[in-house]
Amino acid sequence: MQDSLVYLNGQLTPLADAKISVLDRGFIFGDGVYEVIPIYAGQMFRAEQHLARLSRSLAKIRIDNPHSNSEWINLIEQLSQTHPAQNQIVYIQVTRGVAPRAHAFPAHTIPTVFMMCNPMVLLSDTVRSQGVACVSMEDLRWLHCEIKSISLLGNVLSAQYAAEQSATEVIQFRDGFLTEGSSSNVWIVKDNVLLAPPKNNLILEGIRYALVEELCSASKISFSSRPISRAEVFGADEVMLTSASKEILPVVSIDSKPVGTGRPGPMFSQLYSAYQQAKPPAKPSAKK
Ligand code: PMP
Repeated sequence: MQDSLVYLNGQLTPLADAKISVLDRGFIFGDGVYEVIPIYAGQMFRAEQHLARLSRSLAKIRIDNPHSNSEWINLIEQLSQTHPAQNQIVYIQVTRGVAPRAHAFPAHTIPTVFMMCNPMVLLSDTVRSQGVACVSMEDLRWLHCEIKSISLLGNVLSAQYAAEQSATEVIQFRDGFLTEGSSSNVWIVKDNVLLAPPKNNLILEGIRYALVEELCSASKISFSSRPISRAEVFGADEVMLTSASKEILPVVSIDSKPVGTGRPGPMFSQLYSAYQQAKPPAKPSAKK
């Protein structure tokens, strides 16, 4: 672990040697953004969309994007090739850089760019076929959830709330309407229609959001993006989570109350198999 390579400010360096200043504004203020891109058998999945979201997050906090998309892709490939795992998650973080501590932006700083690759641990078929338990809570985060900010205290506290109740994820509500999980988007199914909350400042638009929309139109599944009340979530036929590492995951209970039949539903099965078709294929095993 300590000798695995990470990328820091232009260099591949062993994790143990990767050091930043304590005055980095990422450390002092959480002043930065991040991205997480899945890599299947050496191929990034939806890299363009992830890098576009990184650009949007950077623009929202007014940090110039330090790299073009092709530079990012080269850097990610160089790093990921030093790691043996077939399936990886690359984590990218860009902060405003190092400056004397003062809240407003410093005049001149060089962004700090950090990347690491870790094995992507996919959920077992057993977990996915059983579905997972979630707990509900009020969404207490700020009003710029569309920015993939490294200031994640709200998400950390909600994830901890779930962990303490042995739940996989929280289902958050703001003023009685569904927002998202601590690190995933939430979908419900009612009468064969898939529903998700609108893409606005109250949720992070997951890269799987548009992907699921595409899968729906290819599979002739009705989809609607609109505010979803708490009563609709608790009365849903199916509830699902999506994220890079969860892919699509069925939720079978919320606050110990069963969702629908209490088993993963048919819409989940259909979307999950469409997702498996859409993602890069596993590497063919070497010829004997
Ligand atoms: N919402 C939040 C708050 C998240 O952290 C994530 C994970 N990045 C998502 C939604 C899902 O996004 P994606 O599909 O890009 O993984």
